Parts: sequence; C-alpha cells; structure tokens
Amino acid sequence: MAEGYTVLVVDDEKVIRDGCTLILKSEGYRVATAENGREALELLEREPVNVVLCDLKMPVMGALEVLEHATARFPDIPVIIITGHGTVDDAVECMKRGAYDFVTKPFRIDPLILCIKRALEKQLLERQTRRLQEEQARNLYTLAMEQSRMHTIVNCMADGLLVTNRNLEVVLCNPSFLRLAGTNPPPPLPAPLATYIHDPGLQEALEDLLTAQEPDRCVYQEIRQGRAHFRAMSAPFFGPDHQVLGTVTVFHDVTYFKELDEVKTFFVNMVSHELRSPLSAIKMQHSVILDGLAGDLTLKQRELLTRAHDKIQGLLDLINELLDVARIEAGHRQLEPAPLELGSVLQEIVDLFQTKAQEQNILLTLAVPADLPPILADRRGVEEVFTNLISNAINYSPDGGEVVVSAHSHPDRLEVRVKDQGIGIEPDEIPKIFDKFYRVKHPKSRQVIGTGLGLALVRGIVDLHRGAVEVESQVGEGSTFKVFLPLAPL
Ligand code: ADP
Repeated sequence: MAEGYTVLVVDDEKVIRDGCTLILKSEGYRVATAENGREALELLEREPVNVVLCDLKMPVMGALEVLEHATARFPDIPVIIITGHGTVDDAVECMKRGAYDFVTKPFRIDPLILCIKRALEKQLLERQTRRLQEEQARNLYTLAMEQSRMHTIVNCMADGLLVTNRNLEVVLCNPSFLRLAGTNPPPPLPAPLATYIHDPGLQEALEDLLTAQEPDRCVYQEIRQGRAHFRAMSAPFFGPDHQVLGTVTVFHDVTYFKELDEVKTFFVNMVSHELRSPLSAIKMQHSVILDGLAGDLTLKQRELLTRAHDKIQGLLDLINELLDVARIEAGHRQLEPAPLELGSVLQEIVDLFQTKAQEQNILLTLAVPADLPPILADRRGVEEVFTNLISNAINYSPDGGEVVVSAHSHPDRLEVRVKDQGIGIEPDEIPKIFDKFYRVKHPKSRQVIGTGLGLALVRGIVDLHRGAVEVESQVGEGSTFKVFLPLAPL
C-alpha cells in the first residue's frame, strides 16, 4: 500500500532523517524531509503529504507546536511522534493533542513501518467515511428538495389530486380536490374512499386498477357530484417489486363546459322545434304544388320547386336527428323493446340502399345465417342504427369497392358488422367521430353532405339497448363498425 504515499520526516538530526528516508524508500514510500517544525509546516502548505513523522523536541519549533497548527490546518494527516525513552510522558501529551501514535528512539524498522501503515489505513477509512457522509448529506438534501418541490406542485395544482393505498384508503389529496369535492373538514388520513368522494363508478374503476396490475392502464370517466362535473383520470402506481401500491386520480373540473353544453343544447332544441313546424308546412305546400293541385307547372318551375323541396327535406332530417340526439341525452327517448328478427330488418335496409350503392359502383351484400337468434330491441332504433352505418359505409367509399353487412351470434349477444373498403379513419379521430357534429376533414369526403350527428345517434341508441359499438379502421383500406346487441331471453 506504500506506492504513491508521501511520508514527511521532521527531525533536526540528519542521521535520523537519512535513516528514515532509506528505510521508507526501500518500502516504496515517497519521502520528504524537514529540519524543524516551521520548515515542516511550510512544506505541508506546498506539497501533498500523507503521514508526518515528527521528532518531539527540535530547535525553532517542536512537535507540540507542529501538532497545534497541523491538527487545525490539515486534520486528516496523521502525525506520528518520534521520541526518546525519557520523553514518553511528553509523547502521551502529544497524543492527547491529536497525534496519531508515537515511536521511541532508537526505533526498529518493522514497528515503524507497521505504525505508518496503520496511520495510512486510518486516514483512508476516515476519508471514505467523510465521503460517504457528504454523499448521504447530499442525497438527503436532494430528497428534501424533491419532496418540497412535489409538495408545492401538488398543492398548487388547479386540478384535484387523490391518492389511495392498495386498501383503497385515501392517503393523500390536495386542496383543489377538497375544494372540488366539497369535502370540508377533511377526515383524518388514511380514510375510506367514500368519506372523501362517494361515487360507485370511481370505486369500481379503482378496484379494477388494483386487481388488474397493468402498469400502463389508465381509466377515464366522468363523475358528477351535485352540480359539479369532473373528468377523472385514474392510474395505478407500483413499488420496486412491481407490486401495485395504490392509485392516483386527477380530477379536472368540467362543470363550466357541461353547463355551456346544456345551454347550447337547450338553444339548439328550441330553435329546432321552432323551425320544424314552418318547414313542414312549407314542404306540404310544395307537395301540393308539385302534385299539380294548384295548377299546371312549367318544367323549369317543377325543377326549381323539386330542388327546394329536397333542401327542405334535408333540413327536416337534420332537425329530426338533432331532436333525436337531444331526446336521448335528456333521457326522454323511450324504447319499445321486443323480440326482433334482425336478419329481415337488415335485409330491408340493404334493399333500400341497393340503388344508391349501384350508383356509386359499390357491391352491397348481406351475410346473415338463417338460424340467427332474435334480439331484444326497439325496431325503429335498430333501423336508425344500421341505416346510419350502411349509409356512412357507402358515402365514405368514393372509389367503389364492397360493403358487407354480416351478423353472427355470441352466447349472450349478437354482433353485426358493417365493413367497407372506403377512405378509413385515422386512429386519433376514432374516439371523436361519435361526438355530436364531429366530421373528419378528408379531401375525399368533402363532397359528402352530413351533419356529424349520425354516429352520436348510433351510440346513443346502442347504449340505451345496453349494447356496444366498436370501430376498426385502416386509412386507405376501409373501416368495420361492429355493433353488439343483447339476445332476446329464451
Ligand atoms: P356524418 O356522416 O353526417 O358526417 P356521422 O356522425 O355519421 O356524421 O359520422 C361522423 C364522421 O365519421 C363522418 O363525418 C366521417 O368523417 C366519419 N365516418 C363515419 N363513418 C365512416 C366510414 N364508414 N368510413 C370513414 N369515415 C367514416
């Protein structure tokens, strides 16, 4: 362990300095020498030294004074005192003042080398300990800083935050959550979820997240608390052993947007109602004229009136769809569920669309097994669903191709697929197409006239039946809309 270490030998006797130099160099140490204490201190300021071997008594400056300065200025350099037999008491005094050890003159080689080795080991250990202590202090500081930063972020967030442990007890929440949920005063933590927010849907979603143990899983849902509406995003969090430790939910207040939407819906409904009656009256009067009951028409007059008649019909369709969606949203749409042979309903709709499909060079086919079990559904609702889906499949297939309507049964439900080879839908557009008035901007569908209400209606009606709609689509290849509806009880 001697390589690279420097021993400073301080003695006024040249023979001792030379003797020590000889011994230490043969052991591999670098050696520096000084004739007295002052020279030694000057050298310590200039050069790196690991151990000092210092004579007790020297002219100019002795070991006690050297110790006084060295322990203050270079506390990690061990000082070994060289002393004569009669001065052991003084050497002990030096130890009290910070010397590492002492060796007595005349000294033997082995104990001297051993003493220096031990001093070096002690120095090494002390340095390592100090380094570890510094590192620990640094880590604690970083941790405290991180905690303080997280605390500030959580407390200043405008969104509400709620953290539960794996027993579904609330262990942390921020002031925004308490404000949004109106939990005042908050129960002491940890507390059952229901004491902070009572929502069976949220409880169920969190329980599901805790059992599913899927790291990237995220659940979005809308939660209503009195007049307030939140959009809640929940996710599980995991410990180092990949065991789920709890859940985090962020609550975004969407009450303002909901209220705005309600006002807008109310306005649209009112306008639609007001428009429907005069439009129906105009349409009827046009029919009377077109039927020739008000006298003969020239060809030009007939053509103009027919065009106006079609436009009015388009407007009435839009108004009816709008009112339909509004009725479903308000919970006013009443279903009349009855056992229904879906095959014949689909056949009628497909027959209705054959002319339109042929005009667009589309092969429209129906593939339904003969033994398809009946479903429990509202006939008018089901007709609206598949009319919309088949009409879309034809409309959004500008380059022709095939539209296949097929159905097959599962143990508890029936699945209908409407598959086209049309323009397809971008993945990030798929969740939006069921929103009211949402229409994808695509150069090939610009000429398609639509309201963006059809799929909102489809989802609304399917939801009322406790069914489901799914979409699979590839841009440029086509789309498949799957509708699942409950079977009629046997
Ligand atoms: P509309 O057809 O009146 O625009 P919908 O609610 O029926 O309204 O559809 C919403 C949007 O979804 C459409 O504008 C269209 O961009 C897209 N879409 C619906 N069905 C298809 C389909 N089969 N292929 C490609 N895009 C579709």
